[in-house]
Amino acid sequence: MKEVLLLKCGEIVLKGLNRKAFEDRLLKNLSRRMKHVADCPISMRQSVVYVEVPEGADADAVMDCAAHIFGFATISRAAVCPEKTLDSVIKTAQRYLAPRFARAATFKVETKRGDKQFPLTSTEISQQVGGALADLFPAVRADMHHPDLTVHVEIREKYAFVHAGPEPGAGGMPTGSNGRAALLLSGGIDSPVAGWMMAKRGLELVGVHFFSYPYTSEQAKEKVLTLGRQLTRWCGRMSVMVVPFTKIQEQIRAQCHEELFTLIMRRFMMRIAERVAVEHGCGALITGESLGQVASQTMPAMAVTGAVCELPVFRPCIGMDKEEIVRIARRIDTFETSILPYEDCCTVFTPKHPNTRPKLPKIVEAESRLAVDALVDEAVNGIEVIHLP
Ligand code: ATP
Ligand code: MG
Repeated sequence: MKEVLLLKCGEIVLKGLNRKAFEDRLLKNLSRRMKHVADCPISMRQSVVYVEVPEGADADAVMDCAAHIFGFATISRAAVCPEKTLDSVIKTAQRYLAPRFARAATFKVETKRGDKQFPLTSTEISQQVGGALADLFPAVRADMHHPDLTVHVEIREKYAFVHAGPEPGAGGMPTGSNGRAALLLSGGIDSPVAGWMMAKRGLELVGVHFFSYPYTSEQAKEKVLTLGRQLTRWCGRMSVMVVPFTKIQEQIRAQCHEELFTLIMRRFMMRIAERVAVEHGCGALITGESLGQVASQTMPAMAVTGAVCELPVFRPCIGMDKEEIVRIARRIDTFETSILPYEDCCTVFTPKHPNTRPKLPKIVEAESRLAVDALVDEAVNGIEVIHLP
Protein backbone atom coordinates (compact mmCIF):
# COMPACT_ATOMS: atom_id res chain seq x y z
CA MET A 1 0.00 0.00 0.00
CA LYS A 2 1.39 3.38 -0.97
CA GLU A 3 2.21 5.58 2.00
CA VAL A 4 2.85 9.30 2.31
CA LEU A 5 3.73 11.64 5.17
CA LEU A 6 1.67 14.80 5.46
CA LEU A 7 3.79 17.34 7.30
CA LYS A 8 2.02 20.45 8.56
CA CYS A 9 4.16 23.54 8.95
CA GLY A 10 4.27 25.15 12.38
CA GLU A 11 5.01 28.73 13.29
CA ILE A 12 6.19 29.73 9.81
CA VAL A 13 2.63 29.80 8.54
CA LEU A 14 2.27 33.00 10.59
CA LYS A 15 4.99 34.71 8.59
CA GLY A 16 4.11 37.43 6.15
CA LEU A 17 6.06 38.43 3.09
CA ASN A 18 9.15 36.44 4.05
CA ARG A 19 7.23 33.20 4.47
CA LYS A 20 8.53 31.82 1.18
CA ALA A 21 12.13 32.08 2.41
CA PHE A 22 11.24 30.06 5.54
CA GLU A 23 9.41 27.45 3.45
CA ASP A 24 12.34 27.14 1.06
CA ARG A 25 14.71 26.62 3.97
CA LEU A 26 12.41 24.02 5.48
CA LEU A 27 12.13 22.08 2.22
CA LYS A 28 15.89 22.25 1.70
CA ASN A 29 16.55 20.92 5.21
CA LEU A 30 14.01 18.15 4.70
CA SER A 31 15.38 17.05 1.31
CA ARG A 32 18.97 17.09 2.46
CA ARG A 33 18.24 15.01 5.54
CA MET A 34 15.82 12.62 3.81
CA LYS A 35 18.45 11.83 1.16
CA HIS A 36 20.33 9.74 3.75
CA VAL A 37 17.23 7.65 4.39
CA ALA A 38 15.38 7.11 1.10
CA ASP A 39 14.79 8.69 -2.28
CA CYS A 40 11.43 10.27 -1.43
CA PRO A 41 9.66 12.68 -3.80
CA ILE A 42 8.84 15.82 -1.79
CA SER A 43 6.32 18.52 -2.66
CA MET A 44 4.43 21.28 -0.91
CA ARG A 45 0.88 22.57 -1.28
CA GLN A 46 -0.95 24.99 1.01
CA SER A 47 1.44 24.71 3.97
CA VAL A 48 1.38 20.92 3.80
CA VAL A 49 4.52 19.09 2.74
CA TYR A 50 4.07 15.69 1.12
CA VAL A 51 6.80 13.09 1.48
CA GLU A 52 6.07 10.05 -0.64
CA VAL A 53 7.47 6.80 0.67
CA PRO A 54 8.84 4.90 -2.32
CA GLU A 55 8.25 1.19 -2.85
CA GLY A 56 10.60 -0.87 -0.67
CA ALA A 57 11.76 2.06 1.48
CA ASP A 58 11.76 1.83 5.28
CA ALA A 59 8.69 3.90 6.15
CA ASP A 60 9.55 3.88 9.87
CA ALA A 61 12.95 5.41 9.11
CA VAL A 62 11.36 8.03 6.87
CA MET A 63 8.91 8.88 9.65
CA ASP A 64 11.71 9.05 12.22
CA CYS A 65 13.75 11.40 10.05
CA ALA A 66 10.79 13.72 9.50
CA ALA A 67 9.97 13.77 13.22
CA HIS A 68 13.41 15.28 13.94
CA ILE A 69 13.15 18.21 11.56
CA PHE A 70 12.40 21.58 13.12
CA GLY A 71 9.60 23.57 11.53
CA PHE A 72 6.85 20.97 11.40
CA ALA A 73 3.99 21.05 13.90
CA THR A 74 2.47 17.66 13.10
CA ILE A 75 3.10 14.61 10.95
CA SER A 76 0.42 12.26 9.69
CA ARG A 77 1.53 8.97 8.23
CA ALA A 78 -1.17 8.13 5.71
CA ALA A 79 -2.17 5.64 3.06
CA VAL A 80 -2.86 6.97 -0.43
CA CYS A 81 -6.20 5.77 -1.78
CA PRO A 82 -5.76 4.34 -5.31
CA GLU A 83 -8.79 6.34 -6.47
CA LYS A 84 -10.51 9.46 -5.21
CA THR A 85 -13.79 7.67 -4.58
CA LEU A 86 -15.72 6.73 -1.45
CA ASP A 87 -15.33 3.05 -2.25
CA SER A 88 -11.55 3.38 -2.53
CA VAL A 89 -11.40 5.36 0.76
CA ILE A 90 -13.37 2.63 2.57
CA LYS A 91 -11.25 -0.21 1.17
CA THR A 92 -8.02 1.63 1.97
CA ALA A 93 -9.13 2.38 5.54
CA GLN A 94 -10.20 -1.24 5.98
CA ARG A 95 -6.79 -2.54 4.97
CA TYR A 96 -4.49 0.18 6.27
CA LEU A 97 -6.10 0.61 9.66
CA ALA A 98 -7.00 -3.05 10.34
CA PRO A 99 -4.29 -3.33 13.07
CA ARG A 100 -5.68 -0.19 14.74
CA PHE A 101 -9.26 -1.48 14.60
CA ALA A 102 -8.01 -4.72 16.19
CA ARG A 103 -6.86 -2.73 19.24
CA ALA A 104 -9.85 -0.38 19.50
CA ALA A 105 -13.27 -0.76 21.10
CA THR A 106 -14.70 2.47 19.67
CA PHE A 107 -14.05 4.68 16.64
CA LYS A 108 -15.22 7.66 14.66
CA VAL A 109 -14.43 9.18 11.26
CA GLU A 110 -13.32 12.76 10.69
CA THR A 111 -13.09 14.21 7.22
CA LYS A 112 -11.26 17.18 5.80
CA ARG A 113 -12.37 18.07 2.30
CA GLY A 114 -9.74 20.31 0.74
CA ASP A 115 -11.10 19.59 -2.74
CA LYS A 116 -14.38 21.48 -2.81
CA GLN A 117 -15.29 19.81 -6.12
CA PHE A 118 -15.72 16.45 -4.42
CA PRO A 119 -19.42 15.50 -4.75
CA LEU A 120 -20.06 14.86 -1.00
CA THR A 121 -19.68 17.17 1.99
CA SER A 122 -17.26 16.24 4.74
CA THR A 123 -20.13 15.24 7.05
CA GLU A 124 -21.59 12.98 4.37
CA ILE A 125 -18.19 11.41 3.75
CA SER A 126 -17.68 10.76 7.48
CA GLN A 127 -21.16 9.22 7.79
CA GLN A 128 -20.82 6.93 4.78
CA VAL A 129 -17.25 5.82 5.53
CA GLY A 130 -18.17 5.37 9.21
CA GLY A 131 -21.21 3.27 8.34
CA ALA A 132 -19.20 1.02 6.02
CA LEU A 133 -16.37 0.57 8.55
CA ALA A 134 -18.88 -0.25 11.33
CA ASP A 135 -20.16 -3.10 9.12
CA LEU A 136 -16.62 -4.26 8.29
CA PHE A 137 -15.48 -4.20 11.95
CA PRO A 138 -18.57 -5.26 13.91
CA ALA A 139 -16.59 -5.61 17.17
CA VAL A 140 -15.80 -1.87 17.19
CA ARG A 141 -18.63 0.53 17.87
CA ALA A 142 -19.02 4.15 16.86
CA ASP A 143 -18.41 6.80 19.52
CA MET A 144 -18.44 10.46 18.51
CA HIS A 145 -17.10 11.76 21.85
CA HIS A 146 -14.23 9.67 23.20
CA PRO A 147 -13.27 7.17 20.50
CA ASP A 148 -10.18 4.95 20.88
CA LEU A 149 -9.53 5.40 17.19
CA THR A 150 -10.22 8.36 14.94
CA VAL A 151 -10.10 7.54 11.24
CA HIS A 152 -9.01 10.65 9.36
CA VAL A 153 -10.06 11.03 5.75
CA GLU A 154 -8.44 13.85 3.80
CA ILE A 155 -9.80 14.57 0.35
CA ARG A 156 -7.18 16.76 -1.26
CA GLU A 157 -6.56 18.18 -4.70
CA LYS A 158 -5.05 15.11 -6.33
CA TYR A 159 -5.55 12.25 -3.90
CA ALA A 160 -7.55 11.01 -0.97
CA PHE A 161 -5.66 9.94 2.15
CA VAL A 162 -6.52 7.86 5.17
CA HIS A 163 -4.69 7.92 8.50
CA ALA A 164 -5.13 7.43 12.23
CA GLY A 165 -4.30 10.97 13.29
CA PRO A 166 -1.34 13.31 13.42
CA GLU A 167 1.66 12.89 15.68
CA PRO A 168 3.61 15.85 17.03
CA GLY A 169 6.45 17.08 14.85
CA ALA A 170 9.69 18.56 16.19
CA GLY A 171 8.12 22.05 16.30
CA GLY A 172 10.22 25.20 16.21
CA MET A 173 11.57 26.99 13.16
CA PRO A 174 13.65 25.57 10.29
CA THR A 175 17.29 25.18 11.28
CA GLY A 176 19.28 28.06 9.79
CA SER A 177 16.27 30.29 9.20
CA ASN A 178 17.38 32.57 12.05
CA GLY A 179 21.09 32.44 11.27
CA ARG A 180 24.00 30.70 12.91
CA ALA A 181 25.46 30.64 16.45
CA ALA A 182 28.45 29.09 18.19
CA LEU A 183 27.57 26.51 20.84
CA LEU A 184 30.05 26.03 23.68
CA LEU A 185 29.69 22.28 23.86
CA SER A 186 31.07 20.48 26.90
CA GLY A 187 30.49 16.83 27.68
CA GLY A 188 27.84 17.70 30.28
CA ILE A 189 24.07 17.52 30.31
CA ASP A 190 23.27 21.20 29.87
CA SER A 191 25.12 22.38 26.79
CA PRO A 192 23.65 19.82 24.33
CA VAL A 193 20.20 20.78 25.63
CA ALA A 194 21.02 24.47 25.19
CA GLY A 195 22.15 23.79 21.61
CA TRP A 196 19.01 21.82 20.86
CA MET A 197 16.78 24.58 22.24
CA MET A 198 18.40 27.23 20.08
CA ALA A 199 18.52 25.00 16.98
CA LYS A 200 14.79 24.55 17.52
CA ARG A 201 14.44 28.31 17.24
CA GLY A 202 16.03 28.19 13.80
CA LEU A 203 19.73 28.56 14.54
CA GLU A 204 22.37 26.58 12.74
CA LEU A 205 25.03 25.45 15.23
CA VAL A 206 28.81 25.55 15.12
CA GLY A 207 30.22 23.57 18.04
CA VAL A 208 33.20 24.82 20.06
CA HIS A 209 34.83 22.40 22.47
CA PHE A 210 37.76 23.16 24.77
CA PHE A 211 40.03 20.21 25.10
CA SER A 212 42.78 19.93 27.69
CA TYR A 213 44.82 16.94 26.72
CA PRO A 214 46.25 15.10 28.69
CA TYR A 215 44.15 16.38 31.61
CA THR A 216 41.10 15.39 29.64
CA SER A 217 41.27 12.20 27.60
CA GLU A 218 40.62 11.22 23.99
CA GLN A 219 37.53 9.48 25.32
CA ALA A 220 36.24 12.79 26.69
CA LYS A 221 36.64 14.30 23.21
CA GLU A 222 34.91 11.30 21.60
CA LYS A 223 32.05 11.77 24.04
CA VAL A 224 31.59 15.37 22.94
CA LEU A 225 31.63 14.33 19.28
CA THR A 226 29.00 11.69 20.07
CA LEU A 227 26.86 14.42 21.61
CA GLY A 228 27.42 16.51 18.49
CA ARG A 229 26.28 13.60 16.30
CA GLN A 230 23.19 13.17 18.45
CA LEU A 231 22.39 16.83 17.89
CA THR A 232 22.78 16.45 14.13
CA ARG A 233 19.76 14.14 14.16
CA TRP A 234 17.80 17.29 14.98
CA CYS A 235 19.70 20.10 13.38
CA GLY A 236 21.51 18.48 10.46
CA ARG A 237 25.20 18.65 9.71
CA MET A 238 27.42 20.53 12.11
CA SER A 239 31.12 21.32 12.54
CA VAL A 240 32.83 21.06 15.90
CA MET A 241 35.94 23.15 16.55
CA VAL A 242 38.16 21.41 19.06
CA VAL A 243 40.28 24.07 20.76
CA PRO A 244 43.56 23.12 22.46
CA PHE A 245 43.14 24.56 25.94
CA THR A 246 45.87 22.96 28.03
CA LYS A 247 48.40 25.78 27.82
CA ILE A 248 45.88 28.41 28.82
CA GLN A 249 44.79 26.43 31.84
CA GLU A 250 48.38 25.81 32.90
CA GLN A 251 49.24 29.48 32.55
CA ILE A 252 46.25 30.58 34.61
CA ARG A 253 47.13 28.07 37.29
CA ALA A 254 50.72 29.27 37.38
CA GLN A 255 50.00 33.02 37.33
CA CYS A 256 46.63 33.69 38.98
CA HIS A 257 45.08 33.22 42.38
CA GLU A 258 43.29 29.91 42.73
CA GLU A 259 39.90 31.40 43.64
CA LEU A 260 39.80 33.23 40.28
CA PHE A 261 40.88 30.25 38.18
CA THR A 262 37.45 29.24 36.88
CA LEU A 263 36.34 32.76 36.04
CA ILE A 264 39.49 33.62 34.15
CA MET A 265 39.34 30.32 32.33
CA ARG A 266 35.73 30.96 31.34
CA ARG A 267 36.64 34.41 30.06
CA PHE A 268 39.18 32.75 27.79
CA MET A 269 36.50 30.36 26.58
CA MET A 270 34.21 33.24 25.71
CA ARG A 271 36.95 35.17 23.91
CA ILE A 272 37.96 32.15 21.83
CA ALA A 273 34.37 31.16 21.12
CA GLU A 274 33.68 34.69 19.91
CA ARG A 275 36.67 34.56 17.57
CA VAL A 276 35.39 31.26 16.16
CA ALA A 277 31.89 32.69 15.94
CA VAL A 278 32.95 35.74 13.95
CA GLU A 279 35.08 33.63 11.62
CA HIS A 280 32.12 31.36 10.88
CA GLY A 281 29.47 34.01 10.43
CA CYS A 282 27.75 33.39 13.77
CA GLY A 283 25.65 36.11 15.37
CA ALA A 284 25.70 34.83 18.97
CA LEU A 285 27.22 32.42 21.48
CA ILE A 286 25.23 29.72 23.25
CA THR A 287 26.08 28.19 26.62
CA GLY A 288 24.35 25.72 28.92
CA GLU A 289 24.56 27.97 31.96
CA SER A 290 21.75 27.92 34.52
CA LEU A 291 21.47 30.60 37.18
CA GLY A 292 23.17 29.62 40.41
CA GLN A 293 23.95 26.06 39.29
CA VAL A 294 27.64 26.42 40.21
CA ALA A 295 29.91 29.23 41.44
CA SER A 296 30.68 30.43 37.91
CA GLN A 297 26.98 30.78 37.12
CA THR A 298 25.96 33.38 39.69
CA MET A 299 24.77 36.68 38.26
CA PRO A 300 28.01 38.57 39.04
CA ALA A 301 30.07 35.67 37.65
CA MET A 302 28.15 35.67 34.38
CA ALA A 303 28.53 39.45 34.15
CA VAL A 304 32.29 39.02 34.42
CA THR A 305 32.51 36.20 31.87
CA GLY A 306 30.10 37.86 29.46
CA ALA A 307 32.04 41.14 29.65
CA VAL A 308 34.76 39.91 27.28
CA CYS A 309 32.48 39.49 24.28
CA GLU A 310 30.41 41.78 22.17
CA LEU A 311 28.15 39.18 20.61
CA PRO A 312 24.97 38.33 22.49
CA VAL A 313 25.26 35.25 24.71
CA PHE A 314 22.21 32.99 24.63
CA ARG A 315 21.70 30.91 27.76
CA PRO A 316 18.43 29.09 27.14
CA CYS A 317 18.78 26.92 30.28
CA ILE A 318 19.20 29.97 32.52
CA GLY A 319 15.81 29.65 34.19
CA MET A 320 15.55 25.89 34.22
CA ASP A 321 16.00 23.44 37.09
CA LYS A 322 18.38 20.55 36.53
CA GLU A 323 15.40 18.22 36.49
CA GLU A 324 13.82 20.13 33.63
CA ILE A 325 17.08 20.09 31.69
CA VAL A 326 17.43 16.36 32.27
CA ARG A 327 13.92 15.77 30.98
CA ILE A 328 14.84 17.42 27.67
CA ALA A 329 18.21 15.60 27.57
CA ARG A 330 16.36 12.30 27.80
CA ARG A 331 13.87 13.30 25.15
CA ILE A 332 16.58 14.30 22.68
CA ASP A 333 18.64 11.21 23.53
CA THR A 334 21.78 12.94 24.78
CA PHE A 335 21.37 12.10 28.47
CA GLU A 336 22.97 8.65 28.48
CA THR A 337 26.03 10.00 26.68
CA SER A 338 26.27 13.07 28.92
CA ILE A 339 26.48 10.98 32.09
CA LEU A 340 29.44 8.91 30.89
CA PRO A 341 32.11 9.58 33.48
CA TYR A 342 34.82 11.39 31.50
CA GLU A 343 36.20 14.57 33.01
CA ASP A 344 35.79 18.01 31.45
CA CYS A 345 38.39 20.76 31.36
CA CYS A 346 36.20 22.72 33.79
CA THR A 347 36.53 20.02 36.43
CA VAL A 348 40.30 19.75 36.31
CA PHE A 349 41.95 22.40 38.49
CA THR A 350 38.62 23.40 40.08
CA PRO A 351 39.33 25.75 43.00
CA LYS A 352 38.21 24.63 46.45
CA HIS A 353 36.79 28.06 47.25
CA PRO A 354 35.72 29.70 44.00
CA ASN A 355 34.74 33.36 44.03
CA THR A 356 30.99 33.69 43.60
CA ARG A 357 30.92 37.51 43.78
CA PRO A 358 33.82 38.53 41.59
CA LYS A 359 34.75 42.15 40.93
CA LEU A 360 35.77 42.91 37.38
CA PRO A 361 38.80 45.13 38.21
CA LYS A 362 40.32 42.34 40.29
CA ILE A 363 39.92 39.87 37.45
CA VAL A 364 41.34 42.30 34.91
CA GLU A 365 44.31 42.92 37.19
CA ALA A 366 44.92 39.18 37.56
CA GLU A 367 44.70 38.69 33.80
CA SER A 368 47.32 41.39 33.20
CA ARG A 369 49.90 38.81 34.21
CA LEU A 370 48.94 36.71 31.18
CA ALA A 371 49.66 37.26 27.48
CA VAL A 372 45.93 37.10 26.77
CA ASP A 373 45.93 37.96 23.06
CA ALA A 374 48.85 35.69 22.24
CA LEU A 375 47.29 32.79 24.14
CA VAL A 376 43.97 33.29 22.35
CA ASP A 377 45.73 33.47 18.96
CA GLU A 378 47.69 30.33 19.64
CA ALA A 379 44.58 28.40 20.71
CA VAL A 380 42.60 29.57 17.69
CA ASN A 381 45.45 28.62 15.35
CA GLY A 382 45.56 25.14 16.87
CA ILE A 383 41.86 24.38 16.33
CA GLU A 384 41.02 20.98 14.91
CA VAL A 385 37.87 21.14 12.77
CA ILE A 386 35.66 18.06 12.78
CA HIS A 387 32.72 17.89 10.38
CA LEU A 388 29.79 15.85 11.53
CA PRO A 389 27.73 14.91 8.47
P1 ATP B 1 27.03 21.17 30.97
O1 ATP B 1 26.62 22.56 31.39
O2 ATP B 1 27.17 21.04 29.52
O3 ATP B 1 26.23 20.11 31.61
P2 ATP B 1 28.73 21.54 32.98
O4 ATP B 1 27.51 21.91 33.74
O5 ATP B 1 29.74 20.64 33.56
O6 ATP B 1 28.38 20.96 31.61
P3 ATP B 1 29.77 24.04 33.37
O7 ATP B 1 31.08 23.83 33.98
O8 ATP B 1 28.61 24.35 34.19
O9 ATP B 1 29.44 22.83 32.49
O10 ATP B 1 29.95 25.10 32.20
C1 ATP B 1 28.92 25.93 31.81
C2 ATP B 1 28.88 26.05 30.30
O11 ATP B 1 30.16 26.38 29.78
C3 ATP B 1 28.53 24.76 29.62
O12 ATP B 1 27.15 24.56 29.56
C4 ATP B 1 29.12 24.96 28.26
O13 ATP B 1 28.30 25.77 27.44
C5 ATP B 1 30.40 25.72 28.57
N1 ATP B 1 31.52 24.78 28.71
C6 ATP B 1 32.02 24.22 29.83
N2 ATP B 1 33.06 23.41 29.56
C7 ATP B 1 33.24 23.46 28.23
C8 ATP B 1 34.16 22.85 27.31
N3 ATP B 1 35.10 22.00 27.72
N4 ATP B 1 34.06 23.15 26.01
C9 ATP B 1 33.10 23.99 25.58
N5 ATP B 1 32.21 24.58 26.37
C10 ATP B 1 32.28 24.34 27.69
MG1 MG C 1 26.09 23.12 33.62
